[in-house]
Amino acid sequence: MPTQAVMPTYARTDLVFEYGEGAWLVTDHGRRFLDFTSGIAVNALGHAHPHLVAALQEQAGKFWHCSNLYRIDGQERLAQRLVEASFADTVFFCNSGAEALECAIKTARRYHQAAGRPQKYRVITADNSFHGRTLATIAAGGQAKHLDGFGPAVDAFDHVPFGNLNEARVAVTDETAAILVEPVQGEGGIFVADDEYLKGLRAMADEFGLLLIFDEVQCGMGRTGSLFAYEHAGITPDIMTLAKALGGGFPVGACLATAEAAEHMVPGTHGSTFGGNPLAMAAANAVLDVLFEDGFLEQVGGASERLVAGLEKLVAQHTAVFEGVRGRGLMIGLKCKVANGDLVARLLEEDMLTVVAGDNVLRLLPPLNVADAEVDLALEKLDVAAQSMAG
Ligand SMILES: *Cc1c(COP(=O)(O)O)cnc(C)c1O
Repeated sequence: MPTQAVMPTYARTDLVFEYGEGAWLVTDHGRRFLDFTSGIAVNALGHAHPHLVAALQEQAGKFWHCSNLYRIDGQERLAQRLVEASFADTVFFCNSGAEALECAIKTARRYHQAAGRPQKYRVITADNSFHGRTLATIAAGGQAKHLDGFGPAVDAFDHVPFGNLNEARVAVTDETAAILVEPVQGEGGIFVADDEYLKGLRAMADEFGLLLIFDEVQCGMGRTGSLFAYEHAGITPDIMTLAKALGGGFPVGACLATAEAAEHMVPGTHGSTFGGNPLAMAAANAVLDVLFEDGFLEQVGGASERLVAGLEKLVAQHTAVFEGVRGRGLMIGLKCKVANGDLVARLLEEDMLTVVAGDNVLRLLPPLNVADAEVDLALEKLDVAAQSMAG
């Protein structure tokens, strides 16, 4: 039975897992679930991936932590690899997505303040976005359900409709420091930004001297079929946040930036006790080993095509249950006509884990190395669940 000792901020499903293997999670009663949630886009290589397990075990036997008072070999290696694979010149490591966003916002403010523009502190963000649960990031997300009871909200964000360039332009003032968007909105309901929209934001940021921040905490690290979602649009941000899949299940966050944007993030300006500790870096470097393997991202594209083709068939067959499919790579949203939460519950009965998103969407986030047979099985389970829900 659930205990009151855990602060009840989550409405938890009454399941306790004992171990996992690949795309499967097994309960303490031996029931096997097909995991198409991946800890909300975290376990990108599935559970108990042998390379990740070995890397963490090896580091666990050496030392776990030494603080950022000293150089950390794994941190320098991971930073170098992320820099080489992206637009960025420099990386700050932390422990979560929200912390990565805090670093991004601080970096943007400091960029302008150090240049003698202290009035520029506000960030234009999108309606319906999600950037975490700290005081600043709930204000950035701007969703009433997250802000309720925690006022006064941090007054530093101006919200505009996602996907609308004109509205973003109109929102720019003398106080604007940066634009912050998720290239694919995750929690909000799997809304993929048009490539043209992201290009337009880049041009706008350049025109007004603003920093462009992409929150790739959910859509980064291979989830959309390219290493980073911004690559699809053929432009680059000035700052980018990563977390969820970066450590493959070990808590790691990162804020990547160009040398120019981060020029004034000098000793003493920012910090984290745990950020980038050797265990976290071992996990994240092991994740990159696999993501960088030849053909890995192509395989994500193949699995995506198979899943989306199957889902489109299901949408056509179950018109009373589903409305449509959207997303990119293996970040897929199934827009529902029945309540998305009811469908999640129905799929649990079929031994499949899924998670809701906004706009009455069922989110499908299988591990990036999901097998074809597992995709097919997920489609069967969805078919069975939809049949029983058609009413
Ligand atoms: C999950 C998420 C966050 C917050 O990450 P935490 O690790 O929960 O703090 C921020 N941005 C996006 C896009 C996310 O999906």
